[in-house]
Amino acid sequence: MHSKPEAPLDHSRVKAWLLEGDPAALRRLWAEADAVRAAHVGDEVHLRGLIEVSSHCIRHCLYCGLRAPSEGLDRYRMEAGEILACAQEAIQLGYGSVVIQGGEDPGLTRTFIASVVRRIKAHTPLAVTLSLGERSDGDLLAWREAGADRYLLRFETSDPHLYNRIHPNLPGTVSDRFAQLERMRAMGYEIGTGVMVGIPGQTWGTLAADILRFQDFDMDMIGVGPFIPSPRTPLGGKDVLAFLAAPADQVPSDELTTLKAVALTRLVCPDANIPSTTALATLDRARGRELALMRGANVVMPNVTPVPYRVRYEIYPGKACINETATACRGCLEGRIQALGRRVAKGPGGRKRTECKDSSVM
Ligand code: SAH
Repeated sequence: MHSKPEAPLDHSRVKAWLLEGDPAALRRLWAEADAVRAAHVGDEVHLRGLIEVSSHCIRHCLYCGLRAPSEGLDRYRMEAGEILACAQEAIQLGYGSVVIQGGEDPGLTRTFIASVVRRIKAHTPLAVTLSLGERSDGDLLAWREAGADRYLLRFETSDPHLYNRIHPNLPGTVSDRFAQLERMRAMGYEIGTGVMVGIPGQTWGTLAADILRFQDFDMDMIGVGPFIPSPRTPLGGKDVLAFLAAPADQVPSDELTTLKAVALTRLVCPDANIPSTTALATLDRARGRELALMRGANVVMPNVTPVPYRVRYEIYPGKACINETATACRGCLEGRIQALGRRVAKGPGGRKRTECKDSSVM
């Protein structure tokens, strides 16, 4: 790819990079993303303990194994005491934050989550991130007042038509994740978002627009992982054919494309916190985590959910590290991070804004 060094990464150039196949050009992309990561967020890798608190869900998302119509799932909702025990384990493992994630589950009531957050904040130094789907402003405000620091809500795709197809509205409501993200920012949350790479119907132009949307919205945290088909869902069976874009346009849900998306996300959002996702580790157990960390990512979200629950939180099948205890996972990750010449960060690891220098070689 021949581009003027100082040219900005606009839509056509992001798209061209996503399609880039020349190994020498890609080596430049990886090196630049890694250099921008080092300059803006440093060599430390933040570990966030993931607590999967409920597998109940009222939504019908076409990509997710936890969708309401999924049958044969042994659904669960953790008790407050169990969640607090996970938070304690996260502290013992040296993690600076926890992510409380679940299906969109009204059984996780405003009072229940507020009380869990309040207790974690009262008894630990952990930063608390919530990822509980689309909730009312009343819920979000109550949780913020209880001390929640951050909220993760992937917008999944910036193409409104594709979004409506894969993420049906609840009856009588219109889902607008961008609007919720803006409202949460106004409430004082750090906000995180993201997309899946290779969702059926995602074109190269759409994925390029997604990446630029991260930049326009100045997101604090951005998770980009491959779409992994779940046989429990319409996008995981033969019906998927009706959703795919034309072969030349459809983005594949593969490792290389995901890594390009991670690297480009780092270039357009130099100081965001960007995880190396479990979905990528699921595609490539040997090297997925490391490759994302070497190409822009600076966060890992190890699972601290009790193993018997974890296996029931089946967003997609074959999730990496599902049977590893939290302690084993901690040791494994530390080894992998040190082998890259990086180190595990201490503390809550919020976003630190840095001055934006234009990247040099892109
Ligand atoms: N209920 C919450 C949390 C969902 S799980 C919410 O909707 O925000 C977190 C993320 O997992 C989702 O936002 C989605 O991007 C991702 N995900 C869901 N199904 C997936 C699949 N089949 N493959 C890869 N990622 C998936």
